Amino acid sequence: MMSDIATATTAVTTDTTCPYCGVGCGVKVETDNGVPAPVTGLADHPANFGKLCVKGSALHQTLDHNERLTTPLLNGHRASWDQALNLISDKIQQVVNNHGPEAVAFYGSGQLLTEDYYVANKLMKGFIGSANMDTNSRLCMASAVAGYKRAFGSDTVPGCYEDLEQTDLITLVGSNLAWAHPIIYQRIVAAKQRNPSLKVVVIDPRKTASCDIADLHLAIRPGADAFLFNALLNYLATTDQLDQPFIENCTDDFELALEQARSQSEDLQQLSANTDLAVNDLLRWFDWFAASPRAVTVYSMGINQSATGTDKTNAIINAHLASGKIGKPGCAPFSITGQPNAMGGREVGGLANQLAAHMDFSAGERERVKRFWQAPRIAEKPGLKAIELFEAVLRGDIKFLWIMSTNPLVSMPNADLVKRALEKCELVVVSDCMAYSDTARAAHVLLPAASWGEKNGTVTNSERRISRQRGFLPPPGEAKPDWWIISQVGQRLGYKDAFNYQHPAEIFDEHARLSAFENNGRRDFDLSALVGMSQQQYDALAPVQWPVNDDYPTGKARFFADGQFFTANKKARFLAIDACLPQQESAADNDKSAGLNMNTGRIRDHWHTMTRTGKSARLAQHISEPFIELHPDDAEDYGVKQNQLVEVFNRRAGIRVRARISDQQRRGEAFVPMHWNDRYANQARMGSLVNSDHDPFSGQPELKITRIQLRPLPLQWQGFILSRQDLFISDSNLSPLDCDYWAYGLTSSGHFYEVAGNQTAVDFMNTFKQRCEQQLPGQWLSLDDDQRQHHRWACINDGKLQAIAFVQGIHEPDFSVNRQWLTEQFDNQNIDALTRKALLGGRAPGKQSDPGKIICSCFQVGENAIKAAIADGANNAEALGQQLQCGTNCGSCIPELTALTQQYRSDNTAAELFTELSEK
Ligand code: SF4
Repeated sequence: MMSDIATATTAVTTDTTCPYCGVGCGVKVETDNGVPAPVTGLADHPANFGKLCVKGSALHQTLDHNERLTTPLLNGHRASWDQALNLISDKIQQVVNNHGPEAVAFYGSGQLLTEDYYVANKLMKGFIGSANMDTNSRLCMASAVAGYKRAFGSDTVPGCYEDLEQTDLITLVGSNLAWAHPIIYQRIVAAKQRNPSLKVVVIDPRKTASCDIADLHLAIRPGADAFLFNALLNYLATTDQLDQPFIENCTDDFELALEQARSQSEDLQQLSANTDLAVNDLLRWFDWFAASPRAVTVYSMGINQSATGTDKTNAIINAHLASGKIGKPGCAPFSITGQPNAMGGREVGGLANQLAAHMDFSAGERERVKRFWQAPRIAEKPGLKAIELFEAVLRGDIKFLWIMSTNPLVSMPNADLVKRALEKCELVVVSDCMAYSDTARAAHVLLPAASWGEKNGTVTNSERRISRQRGFLPPPGEAKPDWWIISQVGQRLGYKDAFNYQHPAEIFDEHARLSAFENNGRRDFDLSALVGMSQQQYDALAPVQWPVNDDYPTGKARFFADGQFFTANKKARFLAIDACLPQQESAADNDKSAGLNMNTGRIRDHWHTMTRTGKSARLAQHISEPFIELHPDDAEDYGVKQNQLVEVFNRRAGIRVRARISDQQRRGEAFVPMHWNDRYANQARMGSLVNSDHDPFSGQPELKITRIQLRPLPLQWQGFILSRQDLFISDSNLSPLDCDYWAYGLTSSGHFYEVAGNQTAVDFMNTFKQRCEQQLPGQWLSLDDDQRQHHRWACINDGKLQAIAFVQGIHEPDFSVNRQWLTEQFDNQNIDALTRKALLGGRAPGKQSDPGKIICSCFQVGENAIKAAIADGANNAEALGQQLQCGTNCGSCIPELTALTQQYRSDNTAAELFTELSEK
């Protein structure tokens, strides 16, 4: 049974969609008296067929109301909805009157549902009269949009997930599917098992988890991708493996593109130097691509988040057009989006350079949308893209800014500039579900938005599949859906009829009608067959791939099978791509002329700025702190040891993170995850380091190449704290610990804090104890060894552990302490004398081994247990799964299990491992 927003009093099952990545998996949620059980994958959803990755599987752990925003706040003070909405509409009106509509801006998100996005876009572009509505999808896939439009005349994703299972060659370029889009990755793994001749090539500067299934890994020089695809185009031509009939009948400008590609590809040695790839490896991939009847090239942030991202996407598309590998099963240049509804945003016109429903700002399209909306003041020209938009706020050109469902103080490049911009803006409104995000704390007006599980609407995944997100819990307090909030402002601005929506079904219907309005097959985006759905039909809407029209009433898997595109003459366009290497920042931009290139991206168990995944204890365990991954030789050059805390800096900012040394990095390159922010670490916003370089066509920022410097963080001590209650929240305000480094997260029974400092350990402990004594009543145990600078302290109240802290004057964490056992003691209802004694020793009475770092989040299997199983004979991920269950649920950890077995499987290493484990 599917439900609308429900106040369930009995068991209810709701089919909905995961709110994380662009795979768009179907999720089944069972609630009993309003209490959700662990979620499962929807067996009949065509994206995932019942599977979920580790993030999706932990969704039920993120539904509590901790740290939720539940009432409107004006400058931190509780307000009624009327007060907040009147203030917003009055201010918009005043700014428009005094400075014109261009002084107003909205910044949305791929987390918004299509209905929310539609209403925001309509209000801004049709009624306020400016196109200054951009979105964090600018950071995600704007280059893919620009590339598709240049080549096809439309923002059309040609293929579908089934193509990955029906192909001969999959090239993953700038895409770590194994961690960022795990269910698609698992579909490829399964396809490869069924068809061992399916080849997978990974093009990525890093050796990522996706390389686990690669037949060839091309560890390319960062940013050199266009050279590679230009050379592939040239190879297809010189080896006479072009699809000439397709080129002649269905495309334009082939010769121009080939001429440019040839000029940069004929000298193979130079190509090898430009890409840092061996000629033999290049030729091997070229040959596989040319010889494969079917090929899919999957690309995501490694291509899009680049100052030349649009050119890179067109270089990829060129190769597919030249070989005719498009519009057929198993053939596509396939951009995979990062966010759950990046595609929905593209459909409604959520980017500043789009108007609505895949229409832009030509006079005819403006006039059409104006008539459809009966808009009083349609935007005349494209608005400011994200980077320009925040720069305009800083200049004072934009006086009113409304940020919806996103955290640009963390995710935007030059994030400290964004912070300064918000400080300068006359009125900053943030609608969000979380109270303590970095951006929420910078707002004048905070509006409580409904969250996943409470919202009701649609999202579109990477293969154009529209799915319903259905609510199954009531929003807490006074939280409201975004479409309602925006509509209320629209009504207060005097547009009662245009924003008189009562239900998202009405908004979806209007969106579908606009897609069909004067379309007649001219525009790819067409939902005409979904027009006129009743609310009941909308509630029951099954996942469907657009277009959905008379020709394709149940949707369409692939575009371009007929060789017809959406340009004026129906032909696809080749683009002549002048490949170039990334511009290094000038020496003046650095503190020294040397340095490393910082690449940024996702890790396996976290999502964006952690506002949701940070609420899951299970997801905090795989990687619990911000880090920088370094090549061993670079680490040595900078005098950095494994697990040491370091400062990463350039002239813009500095962050503090832990060093992970790995030969999976290229020399001279470093990787920093995008997730950590001021709620989860004291100084780890990677966006503050990144400059404002961006692609000239798409406006997408360069987030993959930032020049950085590095130095060990001077420290006297480090350690950790476990606590039953959150020691950071005091009187509803965030009040973090006073030390040089901290990182925060949840455990299964409370909270953890990694801490380090350059004051004396005694000073830190004394301050900390004073603070805790105010918050935590109880009996205090302590153990101090001043000589070794070991200080341990625990608080027990009524037989229960309240908090425990370990600090020590060394530069590496003490792995001899069994953190898991300590964490379990918070569930112990009666700490006995023996356990009391053992607590400050950090180990269970008697011998109990430490499971080590958690590798399998689903079954909580640690690295030490895995090493023991390998020493015991398990020699692959499957064998480990049989012994320990690891990798047998969502499968996200399988690449790491494989890497561990490869690392330790030789007899000698196993013997060493056995000795190492025996000593633990
Ligand atoms: Fe959610 Fe994982 Fe599916 Fe992405 S792959 S939609 S994160 S369950």
